[in-house]
Amino acid sequence: METIAPFIEVIDEIKEAGGEVFKLCFQCGLCDTVCPWNRVRDFSMRKIIREAAFGLSEIEGEDIWRCTTCGACPVQCPRGVKQIDVSVSLRRVATEYELFPASVKSARTARASLISEGNPLQGDRAKRSEWAKDLPVKPYTEEMEALYFVGCYLSYDPRMRKVAVATANILNKAGVKFGILGDKESCCGESIRKIGAEEVFTNLAKENIKTFIDNGVKKIIVSSPHCYHTFKNEYPEFMVNFEVIHMSQYLLELINDGRLELTKEYAKQVTYHDPCYLGRHNDIYDEPREVLKKISGLELVEMVDSRKNSLCCGGGGGRIWMDTPKEERFSDIRLLQANDVGAQVLVTACPYCITNFEESRLNLEYEDVLEIKDITEIVNDML
Ligand code: SF4
Ligand code: SF4
Repeated sequence: METIAPFIEVIDEIKEAGGEVFKLCFQCGLCDTVCPWNRVRDFSMRKIIREAAFGLSEIEGEDIWRCTTCGACPVQCPRGVKQIDVSVSLRRVATEYELFPASVKSARTARASLISEGNPLQGDRAKRSEWAKDLPVKPYTEEMEALYFVGCYLSYDPRMRKVAVATANILNKAGVKFGILGDKESCCGESIRKIGAEEVFTNLAKENIKTFIDNGVKKIIVSSPHCYHTFKNEYPEFMVNFEVIHMSQYLLELINDGRLELTKEYAKQVTYHDPCYLGRHNDIYDEPREVLKKISGLELVEMVDSRKNSLCCGGGGGRIWMDTPKEERFSDIRLLQANDVGAQVLVTACPYCITNFEESRLNLEYEDVLEIKDITEIVNDML
């Protein structure tokens, strides 16, 4: 009885999450055509949908952990199948039974750290605002204009801390009255939810929501598209609605309102990578490009896969915590695409993308070929 229980749960969850996949999917295979995995290895979401529909999915294998939740196949599927929800449902069952293949085991470290410290990076909760200790950054209070929700990677990761510093500097220069939550901030929970650890997500979300309400938060500025997506589209499941703005959008607003003046020149060829959770998942394509176009001397060039066809960096869906063999990294392909259009700088607006791109830059020995920047770092240098 115990061996079939997971499959019964899978079918129930999938019916709920994916709609009537049994009837909807007609096995056209379009999902496999657009899936970035098929640029680096064989992988079939079509097959997972078919097997899940018949309750035959192999939940002990690697395949149910591959989907980066990039959103490319749901927007193309002619039958409206919710492939991401199906993947997450399968992972929930595998998580419940602790059925993890070797490549996924590292994600358990992230989960344990989220439970004990509120971040996936094994950072001490008390050190969450250490990046700001020498900066004019105050704790959030109710009368402030906005909360800056820093996020885990910008709080702890040495490369990403530079983005947090740039962001705080920009907000101060623009005269924005903002504050941070410091050690009261917890991970938004987006990626751990996509791995199937629903309870961990719920606890993190409830902690943050309570903190937001207790501190009178109304408007939230975020640096990560994953925080943006969760606050905007997933926290409303808890009957709350906060005004959320991604920093790339806020930059444009600050420039258009005359609060931020870009005075310097950036004479470089730049290409912009659309993060999946900003672009495909939330339709934010224009604002970052508008910001870049306002920088004097900057020449914006587009890669072959851009906007809604953007190539995933490989970090979504919790993949940022899993092991991906060097030859299977989408981010390597992305750097080659940037180089192909003559870009000197690959700019984006997501901590996962930057983390993966920086690693690919080393793998490809592109240190002298291509710079990787967050959009706030470029804007900060123009003030
Ligand atoms: S694109 Fe949609 S209908 Fe076609 S195989 Fe994939 S899930 Fe099924
Ligand atoms: S959401 Fe993206 S990674 Fe996941 S199966 Fe679809 S195309 Fe592939």
